[in-house]
Amino acid sequence: MQTLKISNAHQIIFMTEKRTELSDLGEFGLIDRIQQQVTLHNATSLKGIGDDAAIISAGEESIVVSTDMLLEGVHFDLSYMPLQHLGYKSVAVNISDIAAMNARPEQIVISLAISNRFSLEAVDALYEGIRAACESYKVDLVGGDTSSSVSGLIISITAIGRAPKNNIVQRSGAKANDIICVTGDLGAAYVGLQVLEREKQVFLTNPAMQPDLEKYEYLVGRQLKPEARMDIIHDLTERKCVPTSMIDISDGLASELLHLSKHSRLGVKIFEDKVPIDHDTYETAIEFKMDPITCALNGGEDYELLFTIAPADYEKLKNHPDIHFIGHMHDNPNQNVMISKQQTLVPINAQGWNHFKGE
Ligand code: ADP
Ligand code: MG
Repeated sequence: MQTLKISNAHQIIFMTEKRTELSDLGEFGLIDRIQQQVTLHNATSLKGIGDDAAIISAGEESIVVSTDMLLEGVHFDLSYMPLQHLGYKSVAVNISDIAAMNARPEQIVISLAISNRFSLEAVDALYEGIRAACESYKVDLVGGDTSSSVSGLIISITAIGRAPKNNIVQRSGAKANDIICVTGDLGAAYVGLQVLEREKQVFLTNPAMQPDLEKYEYLVGRQLKPEARMDIIHDLTERKCVPTSMIDISDGLASELLHLSKHSRLGVKIFEDKVPIDHDTYETAIEFKMDPITCALNGGEDYELLFTIAPADYEKLKNHPDIHFIGHMHDNPNQNVMISKQQTLVPINAQGWNHFKGE
């Protein structure tokens, strides 16, 4: 058995030796490093770190497990995020990772750290939203943990889902010439966040001003009340289409495309004019002097699904009103590009959210 060497307390506290900033690695670099250092001991652990959810063998079926943490001040701002919505959203973002495996969610567990700034009524409001999400996704809240907190509210949710073994879809299964599909529309949640941030600033300078959000209802709704696309998972099953690879869009289309490219060891080629952007997103991005396609590529929190299908499956999906075909996979993993509306070749770079840099 391996034993751990315990350093003395002085070393632990001051860590006087080499120091590398986490921002040098970024979130994905850090996860890669953790993954490289981990060995799996059980044959039932079919897939560990590296996908939207872990895959655990359960006979003819597989269980998928995913966890996500939401921190006050990092992932949400309670000055414009009602607690009911926060409860709903924290479940939805976890269900989205289960959807991204082409599985069905069945259970969640919730860990809560909560400071004395919050009342019982506040916790009730949060759980009202959590229960609403459990109802709409038909999942059962089966446990969790509760702790006090010195830094506001922290919600960590783990979701568990299930699917027949052969239906599970990973990030790594795409083949050259597979068609890249995306659901819904992109960039709205990010633009919605900009609207909310602007209104917050207006309110802080003049508390008598009540925000008029009617014009931005769709965008704000996409930020405050995202839905996991379980409806798409049902439609795919109904149409007997199993994607070859899939991921949910939490960090922005560009970042997720690069994950598919890396894991499938292929390149992606997409077309700007095929990327779905809602009219309100487009207009409001311009109002904020932002490029709408940049919001779609690098804005986060859309929770749409990005997946690839074999060309032979195109017929099954081509009439789906909410699935868009934006490009294809190709052999060169080092060439991830977008063909712009002006027909120029634009390299796809991930900006995503780098929490360590405080973005
Ligand atoms: P997502 O955006 O879909 O939630 P993440 O980028 O958070 O996915 O995580 C990617 C992979 O890394 C997942 O398999 C996740 O379980 C794993 N992971 C993330 N953070 C850690 C960590 N601190 N320790 C171990 N695994 C982690
Ligand atoms: Mg995910």
